[in-house]
Order: sequence, then structure tokens, then C-alpha cells
Amino acid sequence: MVPDALNESRSSTVKATFALPVGGGFLNASALLPAGQTTLTQLLPVIQNLENAIVGKVGEEAAAVGTPISCRAGCGACCRQLVPVSLFEAEALTAWMRTLPEERRTELEQRFHRALAALRDAGVIENILDSGWTAEEARATELAIDYFHAGVACPFLEDESCSIHPLRPLSCREYLVTSSPELCRDPSANAVAGVQLPLKLSRVLYSFGQKLEQDPRGWIPLVFLLAWGKSGAAPGDHVSGTGEEVLRKFLEQVVAVSEASKD
Ligand code: SF4
Repeated sequence: MVPDALNESRSSTVKATFALPVGGGFLNASALLPAGQTTLTQLLPVIQNLENAIVGKVGEEAAAVGTPISCRAGCGACCRQLVPVSLFEAEALTAWMRTLPEERRTELEQRFHRALAALRDAGVIENILDSGWTAEEARATELAIDYFHAGVACPFLEDESCSIHPLRPLSCREYLVTSSPELCRDPSANAVAGVQLPLKLSRVLYSFGQKLEQDPRGWIPLVFLLAWGKSGAAPGDHVSGTGEEVLRKFLEQVVAVSEASKD
């Protein structure tokens, strides 16, 4: 559950080998971690790699039983849904956007403005702002349908492909289907066959975010990224320590979230 070996040391990184509890078993993994002080946000590449490993394993298992995952580049149907992004991923994406050339950054910012305006015109925005809907399944379902029917694409979607694929949120990585992509054009009307993951690392990041008490959800809708970034609400060093310490905290939280989901 926790880093059990630090078997390689370099000037600024250490290599940790550890076992990630996934479902009823463990996923053996290793990662290069910062030797010095770091934050959970800075450790995101490690967490993204772990998520990719989980998704890859699930994909192999789905293919082995004759129901391969049908998600492909060029199919952006799911990118018109309300996409949750953890506060740590939001912090990283905000920082990344600030590194972009001005022309590109302005283009993306304008897409965020247009997306929010379209959601406002569709009458959806007020309902998203009221975080109480997440606690009520019927309201959450209704909002998810209304949001999708508004037809507002994620600002990062270009030519029906994700323009930030290596940086995309964990929730995007976790949304997988085995049914025909055609059915995803209206998931509320069609029987889309989703893939259940044995562990969603997004939930672990949300649980850390809930401790920040900015929002009981511990995440924000991706479409709010720009406004959130300007609000200065980033978690910063809320979860910090050496790379090994932050990874240990993360893995302990994986166990806590997994246990809570059994209740
Ligand atoms: S971040 Fe990428 S994968 Fe996620 S909704 Fe946006 S375009 Fe789609």
C-alpha cells in the first residue's frame, strides 16, 4: 500500500516501487519521484501513469472476453458531457495554460467564454453552480442530460479529438465504453455499455479536494476552469512533502476511498 522500496537514487529523484490496491488485488508499479519537497499537483504525472495502467489492464480484460473498448481518437461524443476535474488537475491545467503563447491561450480562453455563454443560454449554468445537485441522484441525472443536450463541446476538443490528451483529466481517462460509438451521440436515449473500473483515481483526488472545503464536491466542472484559475483557489501545498511522502499519502487515501466505497 505504501512505497516499500527506494532502490535507486539520483540527484533530484528517487525511484519508488510499490503496490497499488486495485479491486481485490494489487498493481505492482514503480515511479520516479522528486527527492525534495513537492505537492500532489506536481505528482500528477505519476498518478496519470497509474490511471493509464489501470485502464490498460481493464482494456486487455475487455478485449479478452470479446468486448473491446470502442473509444477512439476522433470520437468526441463524450466530450460534450459535464466533465469533473479535481482541484489538483485544475491547478495543473491552469498553470499549463499560462505557459502557452498568447495567441493560443487567447483562443482557448475565448472557447471557455463561448462554452459558458452557451450553457447559460441553455439554462444549465445556474443548476451547475448549485453544488447541492451532486447529493441527489435524480437531480444529477437530470443535469447531466440537460448539459449533454446543450451540445457544448469541451473547450479543449479540436476536430473531435482531445487537444490536451497527455494532460486530460482522470475522469476523461476513466470514461470507457464497449458499445458502438454511435450510441454515445445520445447516452440518455441509448443503451451505452460503460466499463466499470475497479478503482477510479479521480475519486481519490476529489476526496483530497473535499478537505480543502472550497466545495463539498472536491472538484469543479471543467468548463469552469478559466474562472476558477482566476479566483486563486488553487490547492498549492495543501498536500505536500517529499515525493515519497506525498505518494504515501496518496496511496493511503486510495485505501481509504476503496474502503469507503464498500459501505
Ligand atoms: S479534456 Fe479532452 S478528453 Fe476530456 S472532455 Fe475535454 S476534449 Fe474530451
